[in-house]
Amino acid sequence: MAEKNDIFKKVISHAKEYGFVFPSSEIYDGLNAVYDYGQNGVLLKNNIRDYWWKSMIQLNKNIVGIDAAIFMHPKTWKASGHIDAFNDPLIDNKDSKKRYRADVLVEDYIKKIEQKIQKEIDKASKRFGKDFNKEQFTSTNSKIINYKNKASSITNRLDISLKEDDLSDLKSLIEELEIACPESGSRNWTDVKQFNLMFGTKLGASSESSIDLFLRPETAQGIFVNFLNIQKTGRMKLPFGIAQTGKAFRNEIVARQFIFRMREFEQMEMQYFVTPGTQKEWYDYWKKTRLKWHYSLGIAKENYRFHDHEKLAHYADLATDIEFKFPFGFKELEGIHSRTDFDLLNHEKLSSKKLQYFDTESNQRHIPYVIETSIGLDRMFLAVFSSAFKEELLEDETKRIVLKLPNILAPIKIAVLPLLKKDGLPELANKILDELKWDFMVSYDEKDAVGRRYRRQDAIGTPYCITVDHQSVKDYTVTIRDRDSMQQERISIRGVTKIMHEKLDQKKWFNKI
Ligand code: ATP
Repeated sequence: MAEKNDIFKKVISHAKEYGFVFPSSEIYDGLNAVYDYGQNGVLLKNNIRDYWWKSMIQLNKNIVGIDAAIFMHPKTWKASGHIDAFNDPLIDNKDSKKRYRADVLVEDYIKKIEQKIQKEIDKASKRFGKDFNKEQFTSTNSKIINYKNKASSITNRLDISLKEDDLSDLKSLIEELEIACPESGSRNWTDVKQFNLMFGTKLGASSESSIDLFLRPETAQGIFVNFLNIQKTGRMKLPFGIAQTGKAFRNEIVARQFIFRMREFEQMEMQYFVTPGTQKEWYDYWKKTRLKWHYSLGIAKENYRFHDHEKLAHYADLATDIEFKFPFGFKELEGIHSRTDFDLLNHEKLSSKKLQYFDTESNQRHIPYVIETSIGLDRMFLAVFSSAFKEELLEDETKRIVLKLPNILAPIKIAVLPLLKKDGLPELANKILDELKWDFMVSYDEKDAVGRRYRRQDAIGTPYCITVDHQSVKDYTVTIRDRDSMQQERISIRGVTKIMHEKLDQKKWFNKI
């Protein structure tokens, strides 16, 4: 665990040191769970968004994109269920004044029981060696059976109290389990309260005429309210998709773990409208397709797993998460939900406007069902960034830090480096940069020894460095250095653009989806 925390700390400080992510308004000591993307961070973030956008919209004939406003009519959130159901139960510790999600305190307690079970299994496996039969051991060992029973009875009680909104039972459960505040160690708790996660604001100049608005907690509703506009103007036939990326806001009770859980974040969502009855088939299709999208980036497959939901959100009849192995363990990266006709039906009721699809074949109208894929751009950034972060010990015993980002996502694709700041080398390097900059994000660096410049480029994940040396001026050749292998090859300057196009060909990546 200490090692995991260590890596996570290194990832966070690397992100800051190299201009990827800064705490927001840092000169005022930052703002909790709000972050700014720096000069390299914004490029990486844009590239991730682009990879998603192109794979959805450019590569699918029947998916279109939109950009809906963040402000929406307040009735939107009544229809979507967010006013009534987008709550988390919170509890405060009176001594530390720290705020917690009451359900998470109980879940953490259950996790501790699970860790105890694992410890018993590890001990026994060591003791019995080759002869160890895990299944038999866990089903017969009395200690483990007791732990399991305890965990499942707590889980059941938690589920019931959440389902029935029984906040006083949730508090009793915390008290009975003698859960203490991780900060103060005390059990001096307030009552449990429901807390709505939407941020409120006002629209309008005077207090009499202004109306209460919410900052959208998800981008999806902008798609639902525009469903008919798009279907009609785009002459879309089922099944078809509408995609969008944009900011979402949630007043998370406990926002930690860097950009994993923020209060202002960005989502990339796609709603796929299908004929009722076919939703299971499309749900399976999108599960497979989205996993393939993740795999296409070349990050090791064992970092991903599905977590199918047993407890379903108010709008879903099937749901799964694609979980990713972040430095702090497997956590949700993307959600795939079969949302039924919940949203369109409720918008129809509240707006009194028909939101139905006219099927020209059957000559009938109906409300389509929806499969949603929803991924946090910032979480995807953290997944890509943390899995790319490597500390390598080189043959000469020196250490290098390298971001082994997928080339297609790297903020800077090529760095052009004149070996010296004289003898016509900067001029030639600038000429090469001027030719490449139309097609690629290229940077130029002439400060310090070339070895240090290579390290700087490694640290931000630049796949290729082109070095201009004295030989370049004589025979019009340069070296190209590969970030991962650190091998260099000498090529003619005339062939540089073509070679870079081959090496950085985007189709190679998209073909894997
Ligand atoms: P969690 O269980 O982690 O709170 P969620 O189930 O509420 O997430 P969804 O409502 O399904 O999340 O949102 C879709 C995606 O948006 C998530 O998979 C995640 O990648 C991203 N996301 C949700 N909340 C946040 C947040 N506070 N900060 C950053 N990304 C978020």
